[in-house]
Amino acid sequence: IAPVHVVGGGLAGSEAAWQLLQSGVPVILHEMRPVRKTEAHATDGLAELVCSNSFRSDDATSNAVGVLHAEMRRADSVIMAAADAHQVPAGGALAVDRHGFSAAVEERLRAHPLLEIRREEVTGLPPADWGRTIVATGPLTSPALAEAVRAATGEDSLAFFDAIAPIVHRDSIDFDIAWMQSRYDKPGPGGTGADYVNCPLDRETYEAFIAAIIGGEKTDFKDWEKSTPYFEGCLPIEVMAERGPETLRFGPMKPVGLTDPRTGRSPHAVVQLRQDNASGTLWNMVGFQTKLKYGEQSRIFRMIPGLQNAEFARLGGIHRNTFINSPRVLDGVMRLKAAPHLRFAGQVTGVEGYVESAAMGLLAGRFAAAEALGQEIVPPPATTAMGALLAHITGAANPETFQPMNVNFGLFAPLEGKIRKNERKQVMARRALEDIAAWADARPAAA
Ligand code: FAD
Repeated sequence: IAPVHVVGGGLAGSEAAWQLLQSGVPVILHEMRPVRKTEAHATDGLAELVCSNSFRSDDATSNAVGVLHAEMRRADSVIMAAADAHQVPAGGALAVDRHGFSAAVEERLRAHPLLEIRREEVTGLPPADWGRTIVATGPLTSPALAEAVRAATGEDSLAFFDAIAPIVHRDSIDFDIAWMQSRYDKPGPGGTGADYVNCPLDRETYEAFIAAIIGGEKTDFKDWEKSTPYFEGCLPIEVMAERGPETLRFGPMKPVGLTDPRTGRSPHAVVQLRQDNASGTLWNMVGFQTKLKYGEQSRIFRMIPGLQNAEFARLGGIHRNTFINSPRVLDGVMRLKAAPHLRFAGQVTGVEGYVESAAMGLLAGRFAAAEALGQEIVPPPATTAMGALLAHITGAANPETFQPMNVNFGLFAPLEGKIRKNERKQVMARRALEDIAAWADARPAAA
């Protein structure tokens, strides 16, 4: 059997390689670290977690990512096996010892005689004479390969950035000025109707604030990054402010549905903060992604009444997140329409998160294994978490507004019949776990 090339030994690439190996298909895994580093990875280990050590909720009865965990376990995922073996206490979440986790993934892969690892950067589109190849180079895909992918998929089919908003320590917020309220007092899931911190701005303060944002010093993009388009859904505040003085007041700073208890009226503009950690000590400024320089952010955001003494746990930024417009450029089994010997997997396909990325690696590995063994490719049912994510990135999502997506029940095939609203998640979770079983157990294998 001809080997399948896997480019990128992260969460998705490691899982894809494992699935191929378990089907008896040889793999050549190309990983550029340590020869070439990324902005976020710190080691040369496979499946390194670049930030948090959490795989999020492990509740498979009513949480979509918990369901995804369970489906992947059923499908013999190496990422889930290593995570389970290196779990650390984290309540209902699955959190791991990152070093033990990464080492376990690498060890299990290396134990496979059909695996060859090449420590090298792939600098262009993998050529057709490599045969079947899975590209799983992640949000920090090296620039040379990203350019090659952009050339192959078209100018507007590759995005480069995600934006993050600043996070404030709650005990530095002045609650003589700020107050707790959800817009129109609407409780969100698990909320009370007073779930947000609100900071009011009168007209004068708002106008001074907008001027400061426009005048503030911004971080420069590197040359090759300059032509990068922003997505409308997560524009930096300075880009919005430059569009017109009222843009922010009709966007993230809109005051509708909020009443300042000190005046009994809706203020001219509002900055909202949303709880960011379980203990409620950290709050993030909703919609305040920015590329203002750090010093400027502290200075300008302290102009907001209630945040005059704010201490920031993290300042805002724009970070690299390379991903393709999958609904436009991939077919239903993750092959690049323009070059079908190439499959894409992981965060680069426009899913978001460690688990989702690994899940897309699992699918790409299984699909490539079926092909390599001359068997029919069978996608998982759309009633399952893996099937729902696949359907989302390969067609269900609108290519015009395509954005990185976490797994959620909104992506699953709708339920049939009338089910009470408060039971829908449980019913969807049960249905997913029943429907994945046969698919997961039918691993492609040589006849
Ligand atoms: P990666 O795990 O990044 O793997 C890609 C691999 O490809 C890397 O090892 C890289 O070195 C290699 N590579 C890249 N280009 C080449 C090339 N040309 N040739 C050879 N090898 C190459 N998700 C969460 O769930 N929780 C978080 O806390 C979280 N934090 C994040 C923080 C940052 C800064 C970023 C950028 C992303 C974060 N994510 C987080 C999102 C995402 O889930 C992770 O990035 C995840 O690792 C993606 O898995 P992946 O396999 O697609 O990519």
